[in-house]
Amino acid sequence: MAKIVVIGAGVTGLSCALRIQEAGHSVTIIAKDFPSGFETIDSATQINFTSPWGGAHNRFILPPPGAAPDSQEAREHAMSLVTWEEMHSLHTQHPEAGITFMKAYDYFEAPELAQTSLTEEKARDKYGMKGFKFFTKDELPDGVQMGYEYDTWSLNPMVYCGFLLRRFAYRGGKILKREIREPLEVFEMKEVAPFDVLVNASGIGFGDPDVFIITGQTCLVANPCPVTIVKLNAVGMPTFNVPRGFEGGTIIGGTKIPNDWNPNPSLELREKILSNFAAIYPDILGPDGKFTVIKDIIGRRPARKGGMRLEKEIAQGEKCIIHAYGLGGRGYELSWGVADKVGKLLASHLGSADIPVRQVQAKI
Ligand SMILES: Cc1cc2nc3c(=O)[nH]c(=O)nc-3n(C[C@H](O)[C@H](O)[C@H](O)COP(=O)(O)OP(=O)(O)OC[C@H]3O[C@@H](n4cnc5c(N)ncnc54)[C@H](O)[C@@H]3O)c2cc1C
Repeated sequence: MAKIVVIGAGVTGLSCALRIQEAGHSVTIIAKDFPSGFETIDSATQINFTSPWGGAHNRFILPPPGAAPDSQEAREHAMSLVTWEEMHSLHTQHPEAGITFMKAYDYFEAPELAQTSLTEEKARDKYGMKGFKFFTKDELPDGVQMGYEYDTWSLNPMVYCGFLLRRFAYRGGKILKREIREPLEVFEMKEVAPFDVLVNASGIGFGDPDVFIITGQTCLVANPCPVTIVKLNAVGMPTFNVPRGFEGGTIIGGTKIPNDWNPNPSLELREKILSNFAAIYPDILGPDGKFTVIKDIIGRRPARKGGMRLEKEIAQGEKCIIHAYGLGGRGYELSWGVADKVGKLLASHLGSADIPVRQVQAKI
């Protein structure tokens, strides 16, 4: 049994910590932010803790035709399938995890080759999408060129992350609330040192010049919605909703603006976001024809040029750090794929057996 320390208690750190724990290791999570009731999380002080502000649902982003199996797009798609399977199993065995299964509707105003070259067979057999079906022209909202539906999951982020944290602690995981300045500092901390491997799941990393934020304004409403819809518009921001289930309301979105550090939601933008969504799915409006707004949200997706950092580093000749950060807008939907990869990197470093991983259907 090795001693492992994980920096980060967002969805990435918690998923990695649980996977490593399942392989029989002793794990401590160090973080400055931990999951707690969404209603009491202070956006002024915790805006950089992304996991509470995420949707969070799974939308399959198909690799472009001809993408190599080891391309970033193909690897991310494989990770999203691993995560889909794990979410399905958690949902079935643990209703309290806060996961809901439903249909995803993906609408495209200007479809690209990844969509126009798709067939129902490819969606099912190559990309592993379950319950896939194209919409007919008259089923599509105005201005939408093509669209399809498939089975997906959506979750209530703080219910889900709270479930992961509780599970981790119940299984003997240790928790330390600290802010650290630099991963190497952890190797000197008397509360945890000496240990074998550090996992850096800090969201945004530590001074990585390739990391940047993609800010999103969304609006949480009380109106329930039985499906999760994303409409990619030819121009401007996408229109989407993410049902949070478990009385968490529905997220309506939203913007995706790189390097926008403004923490203040705009009321004008809220009106536009809500009316754009009502135009494609009017059934969401209450009997009074209105949304019931709970909260405006600003979140900062931790993105990275060239994609997430998921690799092992040996620092100062002997200190092993496995990096798992920069998940951008896909932290939840890739979480179990990332955790499995971290488990593999750890096993190869320690010379132990691989952590068992789920079988998935994608054949890219
Ligand atoms: C508006 C919006 C909508 C989104 N929708 C979706 C969606 O539908 N589906 C999806 O998959 N993803 C979605 N995302 C993205 C998703 O929320 C993120 O990718 C994910 O939350 C990142 O998780 P993380 O654990 O990597 O980072 P974080 O959640 O930011 O966690 C980082 C952890 O590291 C700790 N930490 C960082 N620095 C330090 C330090 N110096 N000392 C100690 N601890 C530290 C923090 O305290 C925290 O515990 C969305 C994001 C936004 C903003």
